[in-house]
Amino acid sequence: MTGTTETPQTLRGRSSAETRSAVLDLIRTSGEISRVDLARRSALTEATISKIVKDLLSAGLVIQSGFAQSTGGKRPALLRLNGGGAHAIGLTLDFHRCVIVLCAADGTELARSEAQGTGFDEPAVALDRLAAAVDALLTREQVDRASIIGIGVASAGRRGSPLGGVVDTSFFDVWEPVPVEAELERRTGLDVVRENDADCAALGEYWSSQEPARDFVAVYMSHGIGCGIVINGAIYRGASGNAGEIGHTTVDPDGLPCWCGSRGCLETVASPRAIVREALADDALRARLGVDEGTPTDQVYGRFLGLAADGDPLASAILDRAAAHFAAAVGALVNTLDLDLVVLAGSGFAGAGEVFLEAARRRVAATAFMRELHPITVRLAHAGAETAALGAASVVLQRGLTPHRSA
Ligand SMILES: [Zn+2]
Repeated sequence: MTGTTETPQTLRGRSSAETRSAVLDLIRTSGEISRVDLARRSALTEATISKIVKDLLSAGLVIQSGFAQSTGGKRPALLRLNGGGAHAIGLTLDFHRCVIVLCAADGTELARSEAQGTGFDEPAVALDRLAAAVDALLTREQVDRASIIGIGVASAGRRGSPLGGVVDTSFFDVWEPVPVEAELERRTGLDVVRENDADCAALGEYWSSQEPARDFVAVYMSHGIGCGIVINGAIYRGASGNAGEIGHTTVDPDGLPCWCGSRGCLETVASPRAIVREALADDALRARLGVDEGTPTDQVYGRFLGLAADGDPLASAILDRAAAHFAAAVGALVNTLDLDLVVLAGSGFAGAGEVFLEAARRRVAATAFMRELHPITVRLAHAGAETAALGAASVVLQRGLTPHRSA
């Protein structure tokens, strides 16, 4: 058995569906566990655990897998997830690069593939491409479609907009009226759920860790910057489900207008598109990049990172400045939430992860208030580029496994 931490998870005060999901999480991360250990680790009563386990057993989500050693009386039965040959797919609907993962019912990654990012392509074109990539993955892995519980999509976007969709007038405006779930369901014949990409990154980090941290933040950078906040093992969503939008915290009150309506947001100085905009504004640098206004942003960003890595002074200065702004936001998060762990995930870090990572570490090391109290770890996500895709698959698994859980 793994994950035998002695401090119980405080599951009291959650809704019954959340408690059920959290108990399932405990069984999943433990591999095998008895009812007594579940009660000890969850701080729930044995009667409550017995009732939840009875429900999980009758729903076929959990099976009895054997017996633990006796400690005097009857040998306690061990429980584990019922894999049952079911699968889930997770994918990132990402500007730069889409990652697709195929997972077993316990969240283990079985296979992975990549597809071209959405860029500024028409949504129908990008969705056709994604559906074809999902088909190709299933064919390659010889997976029966009937075994797929569903597809989880990690994408940017504000919840609760008038259209209920993605709103980003600088890039996602074309996506706003697109019902991505329905469109992908039509193309793949599979159930589709969508979740915020930063929250997916946090979930992916949580699910891919044998002993996940209960309190941490996953900072996700793709076209924009956001973060998924995990408090006591659950995503913190805030009043409208939009918690974690650090990309729209003000860095410079007199700075450039941001698509959100404010000025000088972090995204206007530290995101890949901000970096690209700054790089293209310099004629000499633009010439060294060998691009023009028509070159896709992701390609410009890739070439820019190449120049910076080769020591181009101006490219390096632009990247360092962006990383310093980013790092300041990470330092503010650490102080606000008293964090001892921050993980970085997302395609925006690909090729630039070390620069952002080192800047954040330097900043945190200089964050005197918390530094004096406990160590603070900043690192890249365990699962790398596919972290958010794994998290999206876990959303499917959690919904599939616990159908009463609300989003
Ligand atoms: Zn903004």
